[in-house]
Amino acid sequence: MVIDVITIFPQMVKEIIKESILKRAQQKNIVKINVHNLRDFALDKHSVVDDYSYGGGAGMVLKPEPIFRAVEKIVGKRKKKGKTRIILLTPQGQTFNQAKAKELSQEEHLLFICGHYEGVDERVRENLITDEVSIGDYVLTGGELAAMVIIDSVVRILPGVLNKKESFENDSFYQGLLDYPHYTRPRRFRRKSVPNLLLSGNHARIRKWRRQKALRNTLNKRPDLLEKIALSGEDQKILEELKRKKVKTATTRLVFKSANR
Ligand code: SAM
Repeated sequence: MVIDVITIFPQMVKEIIKESILKRAQQKNIVKINVHNLRDFALDKHSVVDDYSYGGGAGMVLKPEPIFRAVEKIVGKRKKKGKTRIILLTPQGQTFNQAKAKELSQEEHLLFICGHYEGVDERVRENLITDEVSIGDYVLTGGELAAMVIIDSVVRILPGVLNKKESFENDSFYQGLLDYPHYTRPRRFRRKSVPNLLLSGNHARIRKWRRQKALRNTLNKRPDLLEKIALSGEDQKILEELKRKKVKTATTRLVFKSANR
């Protein structure tokens, strides 16, 4: 995969891609990440990339010419002509999630345009881009952090980046559920022990325990996710049991509360 990032703060992106999984993925030649300074595509000798907003009001806007020049150069230079996903980071875009990460991980070329100030000239949005993506309903100062969130979550699921596929397949959202709880050494810590079953070496039972806990976590923390996935008969039975227990615990609490009033 090739990823290009157009930004007025290239150093912000360069610092992050130097570390951890992103660094490893580049070393393994699984991904190539190019960072482009938008100012290099400005038309004047002062490298101006922003201007006032027509109609007045506070805040500057990123000019269209440098962005068009940058995109045309990056896309035009590609030897292997395939489809490029040109992604504009914007709080007005489709909210990013794991499904979008999976979708983008199938592509050969991603090009991110990081906005700043009031954003980019509307003609960029209308004529250049294939996707408008937001990382949530809040406003950041610039698109760099948003681009890094997306790049990190896409690159970590590319084949060969993580040592084991299961590392991300069991992660929250990948298969529609939240992850199960994890424990590590020491076995006993401040009088709290690791569940015995996890030390039993019985892999079938451990798998079942983990599935139950993943379902329980999802039911308790993000029940909305359960409406979106197809559950097996076994999963449905586990869920019914969990729901029954939940109602029972809630009723016991109520009875206990009224008895102590
Ligand atoms: N005036 C814009 C609006 O209200 O839609 C917000 C501009 S914001 C201050 C500057 C830039 O940060 C945006 O152009 C975008 O690239 C980036 N940005 C801000 N919030 C974002 C979000 N939630 N997701 C993705 N990018 C975001």
